[in-house]
Amino acid sequence: MGKKTTDDTTDRCSFCGLPRNEVGVLFSAGDGANICDQCIEHGHALLMESNRPAKRKTRPMRIEELLRPAEIKAFLDQYVIGQDGAKRHMAVAVYNHYKRLMHEEAGDKTIEIDKSNIMLVGRTGTGKTLLARTIAKLLKVPFTIVDATVLTEAGYVGEDVESILSRLLQAADYDVEQAQRGIVFIDEIDKIARKGDNPSITRDVSGEGVQQALLKILEGTVVNVPPQGGRKHPDQKFIQVDTSNILFICGGAFDGIEKKIAQRLNTQVVGYGQSQKERVDRQNIMQYIQPQDLKSFGLIPELIGRIPVLTYLEPLDRTALRSILTEPKNAITRQYAKLFEMDGIELSFSDEALEYIVDKAVEYKLGARGLRSICEAVMMDAMFEMPGRSDTKRFEITADYARNKIENGNVERLRSAG
Ligand code: ADP
Repeated sequence: MGKKTTDDTTDRCSFCGLPRNEVGVLFSAGDGANICDQCIEHGHALLMESNRPAKRKTRPMRIEELLRPAEIKAFLDQYVIGQDGAKRHMAVAVYNHYKRLMHEEAGDKTIEIDKSNIMLVGRTGTGKTLLARTIAKLLKVPFTIVDATVLTEAGYVGEDVESILSRLLQAADYDVEQAQRGIVFIDEIDKIARKGDNPSITRDVSGEGVQQALLKILEGTVVNVPPQGGRKHPDQKFIQVDTSNILFICGGAFDGIEKKIAQRLNTQVVGYGQSQKERVDRQNIMQYIQPQDLKSFGLIPELIGRIPVLTYLEPLDRTALRSILTEPKNAITRQYAKLFEMDGIELSFSDEALEYIVDKAVEYKLGARGLRSICEAVMMDAMFEMPGRSDTKRFEITADYARNKIENGNVERLRSAG
């Protein structure tokens, strides 16, 4: 009889059965179950081979863990100046989106809560994309930004509308369940408006056809999505994505919509007397925007009906532009200060210099988008010359310095940047 090395009381790996003294390390779960180092490695290799991310069951959300709308807005306030109306709408929509998901998870069939997709209307450079990017930082669901200008009807050059869902899948690490709860920001939605008020006789490749395709996704349907986006590889397997619970936020400048709003207001006030007409704030017509104005602009009524929350962003005035330069958490001037700090130089901007930069942004009609290019033109030489200069520990950008850089720089380049 051979020498017995183990008996029934010896700890063994619950997977391969080897006793403790024949494995490197034996991990114990404490209830009699054990696993050895070899089995852990084997399991890990199998997971890697299947090339699929380990599927974690999505943990149900709990209402007390969610940020309240006021808290979401307070977060947005740190990065986006003004735009209170749009922020409130976004905060409420995101919060309701979470609640709607929880409601579905709970299997409560007593009442169905509709999606509240949002439309953000506002001139270019007023912060629509910034709002979307900022809110993405605190979302608990996958999020993606897509540009409507590249979308075309299936079969034409450009991207199919389904590519929106490919992006969302990517953002969700190909976890379909997560992607189906996600949020999509569709930028420049005005670019797929129908050209002209009448339904066109000729085919409108990038307009109404795209709107129809988008409508299906917004309504909620099951879409076959090519995983890598695009239809270039016909042998690729499709992934089925149900869009019923995906929230859509749309943004667009809708250039010229003010005229449509004004026309409607003019016809409406007929018969109400002069006083009502006078109360209309002609400087900021956008605030009166209504769904029918989107229709006059060229969006199909069915699509408008699927985006029930309509809000607008205000044009940025001088005060707002001035605040954008210094106040947001990652304001442009703070970014330059950080860059200089890394070279051991304390950078500051005088008030007059900041006023001058705002003046130029207004003069060139560049809005907030232009602040960055103006600052770049002002800062370029300093960023080139300062590093390595041991004699400078402090550097102030004065109005004279800024003026000198702008007037001697290529101003035309800035003008055309708008
Ligand atoms: P839109 O999408 O409305 O065309 P963006 O959000 O892309 O405009 O804005 C362009 C840039 O201008 C942003 O990156 C940001 O630096 C600045 N900006 C615009 N609006 C604001 C705002 N309300 N608060 C802070 N920065 C802003």
